[in-house]
Amino acid sequence: MQSLANKINIAMGSYGKASVAYNNGGQALKIAVNKGISAKLIAGPADFDALGPLGLTAGTIANGLDEKRAEENIKKIHAARKKVKGIEIWAGAEVDIMGDGKLDYPDELLKQFDIVLVSVHSRMNMPAEEMTARLLKAIQNPYVRIMGHPTGRQILRRDPFHFDMEKVFAAAKKHGVILELNGNPERLDLSDRHVKLAKERGMKVIISTDAHHPDHFQLMRYGVMTARRGWLEAKHILNTLPLKTLLERLAR
Ligand SMILES: [Zn+2]
Repeated sequence: MQSLANKINIAMGSYGKASVAYNNGGQALKIAVNKGISAKLIAGPADFDALGPLGLTAGTIANGLDEKRAEENIKKIHAARKKVKGIEIWAGAEVDIMGDGKLDYPDELLKQFDIVLVSVHSRMNMPAEEMTARLLKAIQNPYVRIMGHPTGRQILRRDPFHFDMEKVFAAAKKHGVILELNGNPERLDLSDRHVKLAKERGMKVIISTDAHHPDHFQLMRYGVMTARRGWLEAKHILNTLPLKTLLERLAR
């Protein structure tokens, strides 16, 4: 367990809809999770700092950023990337999968992000067949890179929603979509058994913390433990790649 934890180079958490990701090679990462920044983060577990001075501000998290704000944020994030030395900054988004499988941002906006993660946050009670079709449709969008908390469960609060996991995994593999292992102990989604299935189907996972605060990056350990319970090794987990390799992998 310890050795796998030590191989985690890049952590990932969510902070609303727009994103910023940065890393200086796996150490001394600085993350902007300051008040207004609405960000999906890919970054290491320590040394947080605010990007406020760089002009990255605001973003309503509850209802998401509207498209214009999202576009402005992407521009700010990309401008910050040029200013900051030694740190990678990426703009990304966690985008809702709507009831019909469409994404709630248009493709013209999605393609401006460096990374797009999609997940279900509504209408989770639909029959398995309908949910499967919904997920398959989302996975086929060419800008989607990661499928977030794929079963939607929240421990002690909400059961996973029903869908044909074999079909969805197969489609994700075909389209190069990576599965999230959300390490937040309220989720642990994918679960240990599900990541084992993912491994057996030749898929990679990315462990995230679903961080909504810098302290939450410590939750990475639960993601690592879940991965181990699912028999994953470092080679099955994208966070263990050097940043450059990960970004190439995500860029497709
Ligand atoms: Zn989410």
